[in-house]
Amino acid sequence: MLGVVPLAWAGGIGLLPMASVLMVEDDHQIRDLAVRALSSAGHVVRSEAMAMPGLQSVIDNTPDLVVLDLGLPDVDGEDLLRMIRAVSEVPIIVATARDDEADVVRLLNAGADEYVIKPYSGAELEARVRALLRRIEIGGQARILEVGGLRIDLRSRIVELDDAEIACNRKEFDLLAYLAGNPGIVIERAELYAQVWREPYGGADKTIDVHLSWLRRKLGETAAEPRYLHTVRGVGVKLVDPTR
Ligand code: CA
Repeated sequence: MLGVVPLAWAGGIGLLPMASVLMVEDDHQIRDLAVRALSSAGHVVRSEAMAMPGLQSVIDNTPDLVVLDLGLPDVDGEDLLRMIRAVSEVPIIVATARDDEADVVRLLNAGADEYVIKPYSGAELEARVRALLRRIEIGGQARILEVGGLRIDLRSRIVELDDAEIACNRKEFDLLAYLAGNPGIVIERAELYAQVWREPYGGADKTIDVHLSWLRRKLGETAAEPRYLHTVRGVGVKLVDPTR
């Protein structure tokens, strides 16, 4: 289970989840680097160099999160990803040298929650782990997100604004919940695509804008006079507490 320690971050008091992490990676240099980075961030890290012991460790040790190298000597990493998914809902970050969009989409569809492109730094991996744990924390424990007069119940998927329920479709809800889970932080469009639509961002697509405009209408605001939803031109979107 996730332990949580309070920590100041992003200008406010937030929660930094700590977790038991399983690292499956056959390259001992990468493995050592990753284990060091994650351990020094407070995580408890186990590691395996091969796929089958990795799968066994998922079953035996029920880690909170798995970092999975896709280039393993005994079993193809993508096959292992599917094998883990057959027995566990554990969040998985895949480490891949392949970074074209079709591959990334396929990996997300195969059950990866997040990916990191090799070569990566210890700090980058640690940031990915932290972001994913925060997402889990949002989905798993803090079932209600409250920002100003906005209240989002993640379990019943009910959104209320100033105590009045707002009907949202699935993607509107997911988008709003993701932004509300990171209040005050500008989220880049590529991240929204990856997290809400599970697709890489092409750049010209209007999907996010369309959903934002629907949400704004429901929240009683406009892009010109935003309250909760603020577009930061050329960067992304943030959700803020307008009462602060
Ligand atoms: Ca490898």
